[in-house]
Parts: sequence; C-alpha cells; structure tokens
Amino acid sequence: MMAKIIDGKAFAARVREQVAAHVARLKEENGLVPGLAVVLVGEDPASQVYVGAKGKQTVEVGMNSYEHKLSADTDEATLLSLIDKLNNDPAVHGILVQLPLPGHLDSDLVINSINPAKDVDGFHISNVGLLGTGQKAMVPCTPLGCLMMLRDHHGSLSGMNAVVVGRSNIVGKPMAQLLLGDSCTVTIAHSRTKDLTAVCRGADILVAAVGRPEMITGDMVKPGATVIDVGINRIERDGKTKLVGDVDFASASAVAGAITPVPGGVGPMTIACLLANTLTAACRANGLAEPKGLTA
Ligand code: NDP
Repeated sequence: MMAKIIDGKAFAARVREQVAAHVARLKEENGLVPGLAVVLVGEDPASQVYVGAKGKQTVEVGMNSYEHKLSADTDEATLLSLIDKLNNDPAVHGILVQLPLPGHLDSDLVINSINPAKDVDGFHISNVGLLGTGQKAMVPCTPLGCLMMLRDHHGSLSGMNAVVVGRSNIVGKPMAQLLLGDSCTVTIAHSRTKDLTAVCRGADILVAAVGRPEMITGDMVKPGATVIDVGINRIERDGKTKLVGDVDFASASAVAGAITPVPGGVGPMTIACLLANTLTAACRANGLAEPKGLTA
C-alpha cells in the first residue's frame, strides 16, 4: 500500500496562520510587534533567495522584518558591531545570520555573539546546551518542523524507535535531542555506521539528513515506518534540473506508512518554524505566555 503523504506545505500554512493570529493578539492586547532581523553577508544566490523568502513571510504574518545586507568583504568587527546593535535593540526579538558566511569570517564566533534569547536559529552554544539538558531553548528550525509533523501524525512518540541518519549540528544532532525529549529510543547514524540498512530497518521513525540524493531506498525502510526526508538536492535527470531528497521516494513510499515528499515536505516547515521561534522569543522577552504547539 502506498504511504500517506505528509503535506509539509499545508502544515506550514497552518503554522503561519497560527503565528499570524497570535501576532495580531499581541498587537491588540499588548501593543507588541515581534521583529526579526536577518543578516546576509555576501551575494550567494541561494542565500539571497532564502533571505528574500524569510523577509516576505515575516511581513505576511504581521511581524516586522529588518534586513541587513553586507558586502562579501565585510570584516569581523563590523559584523560583530551590527550584531551587538541588534542584541540591544528592543524592537528586534529574533536575529538570524544567514549561513554559510564567507570563509574569512568565523561562523562559531559570530553565532555565539548573538544574544541566546534572540537566537531564533537555535545555533548558539547556550541553546545547544539548554536543548541537550532538556531545558527551555530556542530550537533549530528544521528539526523543530520535523518534530511538529511527527507529533501531528502520531500524537505521542513515546517508546518509538527513531533513527536519524546524519549528525550535523544544524539538523542531525538537534533532531536526535528532540526525539529523545519526546521519549523515543534514538539511534544516530552517520558515514561510519556499519550496516546502515539494518540500522534503518529498525526504525519506526526514520529521519534522513544526509545530503546525498535518494540514498535511503525502500529496502532500508521498515514496513509501516514514518519517513521524514530533510534532504534538498538538485540533480540533473532527463536533461532537467530536479529537486530530490535524501530518500528515494518511489521505493520508500511503497513500504513506509507515512512519508514527507521533496519538495513540499520539510522545506516549507523550516521558515514557518523560524516565524514561530521569533514569536516565541518576543513572548519570552516580554514575560508573556508562549504560543501553544509551536515550541518543543
Ligand atoms: P551535513 O553535510 O552537515 O551532514 C551530513 C551528515 O550525513 C553527516 O553527519 C554525514 O556523516 C552523514 N552522511 C554522509 N554520507 C553518509 C552515508 N553514506 N551514510 C550515512 N551517513 C552519511 O548536512 P546537513 O545536516 O547540513 O544537511 C543534510 C541535508 O538536509 C542536506 O541535503 C541539506 O540540503 C538538507 N537541509 C534541508 C533543510 C530544510 O530546510 N529542509 C535545512 C538544512 C539542511 P559524517 O558526520 O560521518 O560525515
């Protein structure tokens, strides 16, 4: 039987509606407008597209968007000084520095200079530590989006076997922490994992965050499992450029119980969760109740 398709595009639209409704209430009842500052250094075309989409969606949900575009040769002191200004600006509740940064800039230093309470990407070392110890953190957007879809599909995740393929700081590791937080039994697989097929076939929940087009095939999926495909890969096929995930959708969807497609799965949830995180940060900064269902 064909797997149920988890529609990330529709889910993200619902998250944005929820954020917009909460933002409207904040304006009316508290005179508060959440603000997101996005900093882009350089002219990387993909980053420019992402930053444009983030700004547009921020405004659409009623929040303020502040874009700071700096030239590719911006020095560290200038960038750190801008972040310091944003850290101290009460109208800015979320700060996102678009990655990757040009090679002469130290990404860790830059990210760790953001006020952790405004770190809506959840990459600051304090937020990593808070998430790892089960405390209230700002949670990285992509894994948060995956968690929301999994909770929506399953209700409770307690006791399920989850396998996360990939151990990056931005997806794999925080995803594993979130699943552990929801009481899954979690395995993290990576390039040195032995018999990846057997490991994956033990998963009730299989999250692929590898960066290798269509690497996870149907024979690696336990019948009935839920498959979350984080991968975004551009490939040439039949003379056309095509977007595919890290999962071979055709073979995996014939075995899985539910699966996210690419495009239209995890991708749209990432920006929706950025908006949710900005709203959460604004509420926390003002001692107000956090939006329900939009945090970990
Ligand atoms: P990274 O390159 O940082 O990490 C990839 C991980 O996959 C590494 O841990 C690596 O293992 C592991 N890996 C690589 N090859 C294999 C293999 N043959 N078998 C098992 N594991 C392997 O990637 P990211 O985490 O940044 O991104 C992963 C994917 O998710 C990419 O396609 C990216 O484009 C996409 N992405 C999508 C987002 C969205 O909004 N939907 C957001 C962010 C990323 P090792 O550590 O041993 O090298």
